[in-house]
Amino acid sequence: MTGTSQQKMPAAGEARVKSPGPRCGAGPAGQQAAMKWLIDCDAVAVPPQPGLPALQRPGPAHCDVPVKENDDPLVPVTGTMKTHPVYSWLGFQHSPSAMQLRAGVLERLGRASRRLPADFEIVVIDAHRTRAFQAELLGYYLAAASTPLTDFISDPWSDAPVPPHTTGGAVDLTLGWRGAVLGLGTDFDAFLPDSAAAALEDEDGSTGRDLRRMLAGVLHAEGMTVIGSEWWHWSYGDQHWAARTGAPAAIYGEIV
Ligand SMILES: [Zn+2]
Repeated sequence: MTGTSQQKMPAAGEARVKSPGPRCGAGPAGQQAAMKWLIDCDAVAVPPQPGLPALQRPGPAHCDVPVKENDDPLVPVTGTMKTHPVYSWLGFQHSPSAMQLRAGVLERLGRASRRLPADFEIVVIDAHRTRAFQAELLGYYLAAASTPLTDFISDPWSDAPVPPHTTGGAVDLTLGWRGAVLGLGTDFDAFLPDSAAAALEDEDGSTGRDLRRMLAGVLHAEGMTVIGSEWWHWSYGDQHWAARTGAPAAIYGEIV
C-alpha cells in the first residue's frame, strides 16, 4: 500500500494552476533557502486546505521516563509506504540497508496516509537508526554547522532518553502529492526556526502552514506526537512520545 487507497476523503479544493509567487515560508524579503531534498510546497499546485485546526506550540517535555518494552518487532517500511531515503544517497558507512519501523508505527502511518485527501500520501524519509549511524549523522552535520545542533540532532550516546530513532518508534516523514515529495515550509533537515512544527502558525494563507496542519491532523488521530523543533519528526511509543502524552512509560526502547 502506498496510501492511494479509495478510502481517502475528497480534497478541500480543486488543484489550481500555480502562478509564480514567494517561496513557501519565505520571510518579508523572501530570504528562503532553496530546498535540496524536497519540492517546495509553494512551487506546485497543491489544492488549498483552509480551516484546519491550529497547531499547538509544545512546551518542554521531560523525556527521561522509564521504558516498558513491548517487543513490537521492527518491520520493513518499503512495500507499505512510499519512501524518500535521503540518507541512503549520502554514502554513510552506518546507514541501514533497509528502512525499518516498529510494526505498530507502520500500521499507524498507513492508516494516517489513507485518511489524507486524494492525491496526497505520507512519505517516509528516515526511520530506525543505530547509535553508530546517529553518531555518523551528527558528525556529518556538525562539520558544516555554525551553531549548536542540540535542538535538532539527538546525542548518540544518551541513555535517558535513548536517541529516539534507535527505538524504531521515531520517523522522519513528509507529505507527497501526485508523486512530488513536499517541503512544508522548509526543507528536510533544515535546522532553522521555521522548521519548528508550529512556526508558521502566524502566517495566514501559508501553504506550508496548512499542509503541516493537515499532516498533524491524521498523525495525531493515530496517537503520534511531533517534536517541537522539526515538523518532519514524529513518533509513537518512544520516551519523547511518553513525555508528550503523559504515558507513565515508553513502550519502545532501543533496538540495537
Ligand atoms: Zn527524526
